[in-house]
Amino acid sequence: MSVAPPEESKRKYDLGFASWVYENVEGGDKLAMCMQCGVCSGSCPIGTEMDHGPRKLFMMIRAGMKEAVLASNTMWNCTACFNCVVRCPREVPVAYILKGLGSAAVDLGYAKKEDTVRFSKAFWWSARTYGRTDERLVTAKYYFSGGLVAGMKKGLENSKIALGMIKAKRMHLGASHKIKDRKGLQAILAKAAEIEAREKEG
Ligand code: SF4
Ligand code: SF4
Repeated sequence: MSVAPPEESKRKYDLGFASWVYENVEGGDKLAMCMQCGVCSGSCPIGTEMDHGPRKLFMMIRAGMKEAVLASNTMWNCTACFNCVVRCPREVPVAYILKGLGSAAVDLGYAKKEDTVRFSKAFWWSARTYGRTDERLVTAKYYFSGGLVAGMKKGLENSKIALGMIKAKRMHLGASHKIKDRKGLQAILAKAAEIEAREKEG
């Protein structure tokens, strides 16, 4: 995603935004098929955590509300469960469009890059070290990467949720689960990084 939307897009309503999404966002060309039935939003298990459900977000794109769309948290809360994709009567690739909008938000500076980068680093650290993502360690590393005080504050804020998860046996207390061949995984990841670096150079 390298093409920026038209310059008049600084306005609250940018009438060129919908066309820009149709042409530049993955799956965006199917957006015109949306009939605003709301099945996607009604099927979304995480909809209550989104600023705007997918149906509303698509309406906002059509209305040219570029700033509100790209700054929304909808794309970041989508878990890609594909409920909406399976159920949409017009075969709109909802989840793909949200993913594309997320990439556009990062490229155009709307996403909270710092948060995204810190979380991504914590996630990859766990994946590389254990071959698994340990939600406790990823969360702790992410929280404390913003500083000791910020980490403690976040930890306290969410302690109730953590205790609830332990009680419901959704979070274990023992040592981290590890895959057997961690060295093998690390060698694969190192090779992938080497190939990626070579491709970027060439
Ligand atoms: S389910 Fe499909 S047609 Fe209905 S609002 Fe969602 S994207 Fe649009
Ligand atoms: S793929 Fe995303 S938007 Fe669609 S139902 Fe799942 S969480 Fe909701």
